[in-house]
Amino acid sequence: DAIECYSCSFAEKSSGCRFSYSIIRCQNLEYCFECKECENCFGCVGLQRKKFHIFNKPYSEEEYWKRVDDLKSAMLERSEYGEFFPLNFSPVYFLQSASAMYWLSGETEAKQLGASIYDPASADAIGEGKVDTSKARSSSEIPDAIDEIDDGWCGVPIRDEQLGRYFTFLKPEIALYKSLRIAPPNKHFIRRVAEMIQEANSAVFEEKICAKCGKKMIVSINRTFPEKTVYCNDCFNKYFEEVS
Ligand SMILES: [Zn+2]
Repeated sequence: DAIECYSCSFAEKSSGCRFSYSIIRCQNLEYCFECKECENCFGCVGLQRKKFHIFNKPYSEEEYWKRVDDLKSAMLERSEYGEFFPLNFSPVYFLQSASAMYWLSGETEAKQLGASIYDPASADAIGEGKVDTSKARSSSEIPDAIDEIDDGWCGVPIRDEQLGRYFTFLKPEIALYKSLRIAPPNKHFIRRVAEMIQEANSAVFEEKICAKCGKKMIVSINRTFPEKTVYCNDCFNKYFEEVS
């Protein structure tokens, strides 16, 4: 429901916007992010019900158009105007993003696209500095049976050894697992979500050969089950008739 918007992502009920991301009920924005009900703004973030703002500062209508013209001329000279925000502006860590999960993007793609690559544990990027790790336990210590989890586990930082990130159990969470007879999770929830998504087929395809007739075909890559028996449509239908 966006009208005459160009190169925008998540533009809702907006019109005449360009190169903007996550905007609602806006008109004539350029290079704006997370704005609501704004009109004629350039390079603004998180504004609501504003007009004639540049980099979140207000200007008269006349001054606005003059400055925007200067800014766009400078951007055009540097071949920047007309491009969406560069990827290193993204608040999402590319290597753990939907692109990595669904499109199997890795460090090669991150470098090609200009995404920032850093150690998520460095410079407190994931807030690890707030975790008192002196009492931390390892995810490998978590018992398999929920009945072996007592209150002593609640609120204690638990390090997911594979991901290198901390998580904890909450009392109501443990009570729920006990009532449903569910084993306590032994992985950080980010890894659980990523592994769940990776069980589905990815958006990247590869050539495979039908295990029955040898016909070539294109199938989706699955990282959880990389080696699977694949049949072409005809062979699968025959197989299905035989077994049913
Ligand atoms: Zn076949």
